[in-house]
Amino acid sequence: MQQDNRVEFTQEMKKTHTILIPNMLNMHFEIIEQLLISEGYKVELLKTTHHNIVNEGVKNVHNDTCYPALLVVGQMIDALKSGKYDLNKVALIMTQTGGGCRASNYIHLLRKALKNNGMEQVPVISVNFYGLETNSGFKFTYRFLIKAVYAIIYGDMLMWISNQCKPYELNAGDTEAVDKKWTKRIADQMHSPSFLRVKRNYKAILEDYEAIPKSNEEKVRVGIVGEIYMKYSPLGNNELEKFLIREGAEPVLSGLLDFIAYCCENMVLDYDLYNINKVNRNLARIALRYLVHSQNKMIKAIKKHGKFKVMSNFNEVKVMAKDYISKGVKMGEGWLLTSEMLELIHSGVNNVICTQPFGCLPNHIVAKGMMRKIKDNYPESNVVAIDYDPGASTINQENRIKLMLSNAKMNMEK
Ligand code: SF4
Repeated sequence: MQQDNRVEFTQEMKKTHTILIPNMLNMHFEIIEQLLISEGYKVELLKTTHHNIVNEGVKNVHNDTCYPALLVVGQMIDALKSGKYDLNKVALIMTQTGGGCRASNYIHLLRKALKNNGMEQVPVISVNFYGLETNSGFKFTYRFLIKAVYAIIYGDMLMWISNQCKPYELNAGDTEAVDKKWTKRIADQMHSPSFLRVKRNYKAILEDYEAIPKSNEEKVRVGIVGEIYMKYSPLGNNELEKFLIREGAEPVLSGLLDFIAYCCENMVLDYDLYNINKVNRNLARIALRYLVHSQNKMIKAIKKHGKFKVMSNFNEVKVMAKDYISKGVKMGEGWLLTSEMLELIHSGVNNVICTQPFGCLPNHIVAKGMMRKIKDNYPESNVVAIDYDPGASTINQENRIKLMLSNAKMNMEK
């Protein structure tokens, strides 16, 4: 069925079509994959990383499109062309942030790419909270949203603790085995209410990571911030976390929940600053309270366990940039990105890599634009911006990071 000149994802398609999800965060998205299956969808997470993804992206989107969109569109078109899927029984999914940034409009680029490749029958589902596009076969239910919050919180916890173990493990692969064990276990729990037994799960997760034999060696800690896809996606940032670990550093990444909470906070700001959408403001406030409350429970469990460093909660992060940037700056990662850099420095992580995608003006402003002021106020900080685009050489990126690491090591020795 056509709706607004697009192919709608209908209720019948829910039974017949496989939804392809572009990957961004391995552990989180494997849990989300099972969440969707538990809600009756057929889904497959795209884990491809080969170079043809970039080629398809370059061929199919405009050359000033930002790099994350180029990769996501490229990954989907590459999958559809692989011959693995029946083009009449497959659907795609993409987020629309609803903000002023271009991320709200990439869905149209994807549809254009489908048309250019003779695949216009493939429906594209929009994930958004602004009612931008709806599909009768894909709906957010209350149960779905609760599961999504926990999928994100569990993913955040696994990523946070795993990064504190991997660089120090004595037997290579031990941490990854625990990552896999708990990702699968939590993903399976999405099919029953077991995922709500958070206290029991958190305790068991922490004990398993604690049991991994580790060295006491002191390593340089390096925070990763940036545009959301570049920050997390190994495809986008050329496996930055793995690279840092290979180079003898400990990567520090804040969770996905902070970004979701930031989007809710912006809905509140839309009303406070511009009088836009009171209903959304009220819903966002309720969501924010629930998100921070749930995040706090996880943080409390880590604190109580006492063996791992604890992350800051969203309310602590969001006030960090108040003397640096207005909350009205909310294109892209907006004020959150500046806040995250400052939060890292305040928590003792002076070394920060800011991942910058090609074509992303908003994040250049809130990241590169803030670096001078941060450096002036925190001379001990060691912040470097790394650019990512289809033509950027990995060697150049790695060399810049190595330079930053050698400064970091020198500072640590001092
Ligand atoms: S924040 Fe940057 S990368 Fe994301 S949509 Fe906007 S311009 Fe593109």
